[in-house]
Amino acid sequence: MKRYECKTAQSGFAAGRVYLIRHKDTGEYRRTDREGERSRLEKAVEEMNRKLEAEKEQAGPSDAGLIEAELLLLNGEEFLGEAERSLREENISAPEAVNRAADKLCGMLRESGAEYILERCEDVRGLAAGLNGLIMENAPAAPKEPCILAGSQLSPGELMMIGTDRILGILTETGSVTSHVSVLAGNLGVPYLYGLEGLDDKVRDGDYLILDWRDGSVSVNPPEELISEAEERQAAERRAREEERRRAAAATTRTAIFANISRAEEADGLPEAGADGIGLFRSEFLFLDRTEAPSEEEQFEAYSHAARAMKGAVTVIRTMDIGSDKQAAWMKLPKEINPALGQRGVRVSLEHRGLFRTQLRALLRAAALGSVRIMVPMVASVWELDEVLEEIRTAAKELDERGEEYRIPETGVMIETPAAVMIAPALAGKARFFSIGTNDLTQYTLAVDREAQGLERYIDPMHDALIQMIKMTVDAAHSKGIPVAVCGELAGNPQAVERLIRLGVDELSVSPAKLSGVRSLAADIENRLDSEKKQIKAEGVHAPAEGELIPMEEIPDPVFSGGVMGECVGILSKDGKIYAPLNGRVAMVAATKHAVSFQGDGEEILVHVGLDTMKLGGDGFRVYVREGDIVEQGQLVMEADQDLIRARGFNPMVIVARLEQNT
Ligand code: PEP
Ligand code: MG
Repeated sequence: MKRYECKTAQSGFAAGRVYLIRHKDTGEYRRTDREGERSRLEKAVEEMNRKLEAEKEQAGPSDAGLIEAELLLLNGEEFLGEAERSLREENISAPEAVNRAADKLCGMLRESGAEYILERCEDVRGLAAGLNGLIMENAPAAPKEPCILAGSQLSPGELMMIGTDRILGILTETGSVTSHVSVLAGNLGVPYLYGLEGLDDKVRDGDYLILDWRDGSVSVNPPEELISEAEERQAAERRAREEERRRAAAATTRTAIFANISRAEEADGLPEAGADGIGLFRSEFLFLDRTEAPSEEEQFEAYSHAARAMKGAVTVIRTMDIGSDKQAAWMKLPKEINPALGQRGVRVSLEHRGLFRTQLRALLRAAALGSVRIMVPMVASVWELDEVLEEIRTAAKELDERGEEYRIPETGVMIETPAAVMIAPALAGKARFFSIGTNDLTQYTLAVDREAQGLERYIDPMHDALIQMIKMTVDAAHSKGIPVAVCGELAGNPQAVERLIRLGVDELSVSPAKLSGVRSLAADIENRLDSEKKQIKAEGVHAPAEGELIPMEEIPDPVFSGGVMGECVGILSKDGKIYAPLNGRVAMVAATKHAVSFQGDGEEILVHVGLDTMKLGGDGFRVYVREGDIVEQGQLVMEADQDLIRARGFNPMVIVARLEQNT
């Protein structure tokens, strides 16, 4: 037996045979023998020739000329001849041979120094990507038995290709906690370990592996007694999860607990598993690992399948978030130096309107069958949302013309760029809901690549900056009366759930494997918060405003959070109405009307409306009492115009402080 130390991206324990994916330049490939590789290349070339010939027949004269040029390129000595030669002479995979031929040809073209060369290189790359897509389609069948998936570097598409119901665990050489592969592993509820250097030489297809997240160890071909111990443990963990699921099913929460899915079939059984809805259906997975776009019918099938499975519960479908590490080879998007900052998310949709409109038509049709909502990823500007809303209207018109049944669904925005946070008040005026994508928001806020290895200690989704941003998003949404979800990994992190609930997040959308754990945790937290509120009342002080309580340390003003004013708490007031917190008298009314204090029964309570709002000079406040007035607990004493306060750039949070008595 060999034992290696790795890093843990997703916790869990797995034991089973390994299904090894070998590849170099392409992320979706499993190699066989030399003859097998040759015949797969041959088949793919035949298929591509057939496709191009068919396209040429349909095309007008100028397009036919272009297709003819592509055919010549495909079958020429410099491309196909070169790929065949390297397959004959070297022990490499078919996609690798294709990529090498493309590299060599591009090198030669560049040397010729002509102006149009760059474009020509793009054609060569596109051809290679298309051919590799076909080769991969002819790849050997995915494993029939449950297995541990391993590969030096895996792509999200590769996981989907294997058939996610058969994956026990995942092991890679390069990876990161926040990568999409890691997110998918979390969705599946399987452990994911990475960092096994030289994986291709240390693990062979069919080896028996034990992955243990606690010490990040990988055991290769352990002795029999360890195998039976590991299999027992795997079964025990499964039983414990079942038990947790049953317990959670009985727990009710005010916070909605939603599920994240990547394939329509994952919606099956979700309501029974305790999901209040789907908070994120990553539709882009329908577009990866294929040779052309999915048709409107295929998409309609997938979206309506999910909506039907949810039996009327909310089904939030994100429009295709293609780009960065989720590449659709057939789209032939240009290679980018910084792909996370390039063509991805809504940008791809707006640059490929035909494709986008097809998706929207499928979504609108599915919305007629269930509670489908549309969610737009990677928004950074209001005009992007405007253009999406316009495209939705156009898609609706097209369906009208076709006489199809449809419904225009509520459209929301993913808050996953710092820009979206800063313009959240404007977006909240146009969107029907927000969902915070903490994975990307962390990446873009802390300027740390979520796919890169070795940056773990710089990735902190609970960084103060992010907590403040979540708070700003919640404030902006609630002031316009729209709900906020968190659908990034943070929502399923037990250390973060309480913080998110206290920040006022309305919905947590987590991987199906985490549904029950998060539901029981949220129920416990909410019970505790309720008793905290009761405690305030029991101590003789009524909350002077109705709304969400914010703990002292989270008040975004050091004067209060640092305890300068003594023990205090924040309240996000629902309506700006302030009530007397105790039976007693008014001790002080600030000249600028933003603060009032009350004395009674040996204590003094200060109610301070807004942060720094003294600067408003009284604008936005109406106080109905004067110093010395006798007040009754619960009596309306003041009203604050929260919209005005916000419009002037201030935070209207109500601070309640227990003052030291100086009498
Ligand atoms: C996110 O960024 O937090 C998110 C949910 O989207 P994805 O992980 O698919 O980018
Ligand atoms: Mg994202």
